[in-house]
Amino acid sequence: MTVPVEQPIATPPRAPSPTLGFGTLAVHAGAPHDPTTGAVIEPISLSTTFAQREVGQPVGIYEYSRSANPNRDNFQQAVAALEHAKHALAFASGSAATATILQSLASGSHVISVSDVYGGTHRYFTQVAKAHGVKVTFTPQIEVDIAEHITDDTKLVWIESPSNPTLRLVDVRAVATAAHARGVLVVVDNTFLSPYVQNPLDHGADIVVHSVTKYINGHSDVVMGLAAVNSDDLQSRLAFLQNAGGAVPSAFDCWLAHRGVKTLHLRVRQSSTNATAVAKALEASPHVIAVNYPGLDSHPHRHIAKKQHRDGMGGGMLSFRIKGGHAAAERFCRLTKIYTLAESLGGIESLVELPSAMTHAGIPKDQREAVGVFDDLVRISSGIEEADDLVRDVQQALEKAALGGDSANGVNGH
Ligand SMILES: *Cc1c(COP(=O)(O)O)cnc(C)c1O
Repeated sequence: MTVPVEQPIATPPRAPSPTLGFGTLAVHAGAPHDPTTGAVIEPISLSTTFAQREVGQPVGIYEYSRSANPNRDNFQQAVAALEHAKHALAFASGSAATATILQSLASGSHVISVSDVYGGTHRYFTQVAKAHGVKVTFTPQIEVDIAEHITDDTKLVWIESPSNPTLRLVDVRAVATAAHARGVLVVVDNTFLSPYVQNPLDHGADIVVHSVTKYINGHSDVVMGLAAVNSDDLQSRLAFLQNAGGAVPSAFDCWLAHRGVKTLHLRVRQSSTNATAVAKALEASPHVIAVNYPGLDSHPHRHIAKKQHRDGMGGGMLSFRIKGGHAAAERFCRLTKIYTLAESLGGIESLVELPSAMTHAGIPKDQREAVGVFDDLVRISSGIEEADDLVRDVQQALEKAALGGDSANGVNGH
């Protein structure tokens, strides 16, 4: 019996032309029809090994799944297209992507990093890289003092924009210009905005890092990381370490993350719309001290957002200081009905958390307060629910949290 296939596809389509829009690329890049069955959605290729016709002559292009497999290749190709990168490499987690980039540096290398970098990245820099002879200098104002920190050993500058959880922005072009003048490479962790809002390679970065766990997968069910580059040399160095270190994602997770990324543009647009509505409601509330959201005109780096983000979008993340201190902040988290109290971000569901007691609890109080992480700071990851529902939920939680004491208890058991 022959299976009718519309059009047998001789060569599966590779990444479509970059002249196509984001949504078209998200759906089609790295998504060839199956050449034997015509299946529109790629099969999950669970095989760890691939047959060879003769010694050293594999049937296809694959040999062993750690080195490469169809699902990882397709996913990498999809994200490379979305990040305007020539190459992308997937890792078992965002942290594994970070570790692999740091492992590519020779002992004795020096790195300059923004101060309010992701907690796990800070831990790797200070407790692992250090043991391998890589020294990291942290600076709170990298655009201003990068030139002072560069030495002959400096190999890498590490940027996160926006920062977590205070949503400060870094001008990637300004930092890249200063770094490149001294032959130093620039890495941007683009996890908080996703490739839909920001493409750091277009602003001069050399490597983009993602925790795919967040927006790219977007459904809070995969832990994965990725690095995207344009340089063939960087690609081959990192691909060597991807295989040699072996911190690779499973074929199944690659398939799931690839399914997730196909709707990235729709999800991030809605998250950003929701975050904007909630940020405006918070700014208008008498119970709020300050709101950190790069989509608001009141944000100190709004000019960078306009230059660096698609349509000046603010993204889905925001934080705010509530009146009434830590107790009010805790009450707020307990009183929301739609938001789930949890760490992480970038999923379809809205989350709320208290950085001082959760994600950033490991940082000494004076250090975290110096970068704006006060006990009354609440962080929100906006999901893709209806904006009106989220605004009403935040407003009712603010009202009740402001009353204080027992009257605020028992509304929602998280
Ligand atoms: C979560 C996160 C990471 C680490 O990624 P994992 O997938 O959890 O290892 C790195 N950077 C940022 C900004 C993150 O939010």
